[in-house]
Amino acid sequence: MIQITMPLNFLGTVYREIRQALVDMGQMFGLLSQPAEIVDAPQATPLAVAGGHVRLEGVHFAYDSERPILKGVDIDIPAGQTIALVGPSGSGKSTIGRLLFRFYDVTGGRVTIDGQDLRDITQDSLHAAIGVVPQDTVLFNDTIYYNIAYGRPEASRAEVEAAAKAAKIHDFILSLPDGYDTTVGERGLKLSGGEKQRVGIARTLLKNPPILLLDEATSALDTQTESDIQQSLHEMGQGRTVITIAHRLSTIADSDRIVVLEAGRVIEEGTHETLLARGGRYAAMWARQAAEDEAEAA
Ligand code: ADP
Ligand code: MG
Repeated sequence: MIQITMPLNFLGTVYREIRQALVDMGQMFGLLSQPAEIVDAPQATPLAVAGGHVRLEGVHFAYDSERPILKGVDIDIPAGQTIALVGPSGSGKSTIGRLLFRFYDVTGGRVTIDGQDLRDITQDSLHAAIGVVPQDTVLFNDTIYYNIAYGRPEASRAEVEAAAKAAKIHDFILSLPDGYDTTVGERGLKLSGGEKQRVGIARTLLKNPPILLLDEATSALDTQTESDIQQSLHEMGQGRTVITIAHRLSTIADSDRIVVLEAGRVIEEGTHETLLARGGRYAAMWARQAAEDEAEAA
């Protein structure tokens, strides 16, 4: 068993944050390791965040040149807005998340944040600007305090506790045998899926990034926990630019905009109401999920 926290303790704060972001991204997008080819351009400058306006302009992408995955995707997310990416499995949703994090470079078009091409900014600054809440937060074999403080190791005790309170896990932590000093993770106290996700939310709140990437796959949680977590995620999204990769449409119906992907193209976009009225692909997906929910409830 590798003692992962030990070597990480020797590394700088920024590196740790990025490392965590990469671990979370890997979890979220099913990447086992980080693709290694991307390096900072010689003239790269830190991202200057001015609200977090995210834009994909005519984005083309292929993992290998034989098979195009994204075929000219335009998505414009004004600062502070919440958009949801929906579409069948394999349509390219996670790929868009990976490109935003610059796990890969686009093969055509560009991705910008506040007008700056991702290829012109440092990866450190990019990763510091994006918070990721994966479905399954990685916990280190260390105290729950450490696991939350990971989001910003220089944070004060009061800030860590405030984040835990906002993520609605503070009271639970106080009920543990050693409170914030309780060891969690594989070799410590095992947390439930909902508790782990709250730790992930607290960690991200502490990091306080202007842009959030969320994976709303909360199907592993019971209904009450899922709706509690949804509420916490929703609150966390206030004042930030949020991109949600949605699985259950009911959780994203109130997004500012829903973008429907199919086979690497945007085929529809709009609010829940306009897309339902349109009677297209989204409306069909919505009807199908509603029918499934009814069958489940019966
Ligand atoms: P979604 O998240 O919408 O289910 P993805 O973005 O994960 O879809 O995948 C889009 C397409 O890219 C799929 O056909 C998938 O098989 C392919 N793909 C994903 N990751 C890789 C990879 N690392 N190498 C090659 N192809 C990949
Ligand atoms: Mg995916």
